[in-house]
Amino acid sequence: MFSDLKGRRVLVTGSTQGIGWAAVQAFARCGAQVGFNGRSAPADLGQRLQALQADGGQAMFLPGDLSRTEDCQRIVQAFVERFGGIDVLVNNAGGLVARVPLAEIDDGFFDAVHHLNARSALMTTRFALPHLKASAQASGQTASVILVGSVAAYTGGGPGAGLYGAAKAWLHNIQKNWVGFHTADGIRFNTVSPGTFDTAFHADKSAEVKAAISRGIPMGRFGQPEDAAPAFLFFASHAASGYITGQVLDINGGQYMP
Ligand code: NAP
Repeated sequence: MFSDLKGRRVLVTGSTQGIGWAAVQAFARCGAQVGFNGRSAPADLGQRLQALQADGGQAMFLPGDLSRTEDCQRIVQAFVERFGGIDVLVNNAGGLVARVPLAEIDDGFFDAVHHLNARSALMTTRFALPHLKASAQASGQTASVILVGSVAAYTGGGPGAGLYGAAKAWLHNIQKNWVGFHTADGIRFNTVSPGTFDTAFHADKSAEVKAAISRGIPMGRFGQPEDAAPAFLFFASHAASGYITGQVLDINGGQYMP
């Protein structure tokens, strides 16, 4: 399955751990050429690169803080220098930054949340756009941009996470504009929207809190990063989803049904 991903050039942002790293591994197993990113290199970078290659992929690590626009531009350039273009962009970098209640939000916190979750995806997509367009023209297959939203985009987010939820809702929305104006360029835009996933994102929660959250999920458990990976392959694959654009795929064990 997804055999058309072999050799495709896939850049996944925010992907040294969690949902992004599981996606990187899944793309490598399909034989893709994958770029992965984080603010700093993982300690076991050499082993990871070898493992991705052993799985059938070609891989490179692209350090960069994507809440900075210059880093968004730099990682796109570095990826294109290595692989000669981009066929698929997964805008996965994101996070809470911190939990801050409304009464304590200041300009710095507002900027930090939006720069990480909204502007990073916007700017990385902007810099990748000519390469995605060139990919579609040269290959005759659609290029794919995948955003990573959240159940918080619908619910508003948990305590102190209102700005995060709003930034994710911004992502769910902005792809509609991009579909309107860049489908003619041969690019599809879709969003993977996770529910509650068992990653470092929830490191601040006790076992009791996690158990209570699990009881509120019809499937009775947090998602694992591997639960989301096939959705990225699906949206990346022209053969699988070439006529699907502007959609949000919720992966949440039934936690929320929009
Ligand atoms: P995670 O385990 O905390 O991993 C975040 C990844 O992003 C790490 O590789 C981290 O590496 C990187 N990162 C963080 N800040 C960055 C920055 N400024 N620039 C570049 N990379 C950065 O996160 P996750 O839970 O897998 O979440 C992945 C995505 O899914 C995020 O967009 C998140 O909002 C979304 N999501 C998660 C959940 C959930 O329950 N886990 C639910 C809904 C949506 P470094 O620390 O080295 O930078």
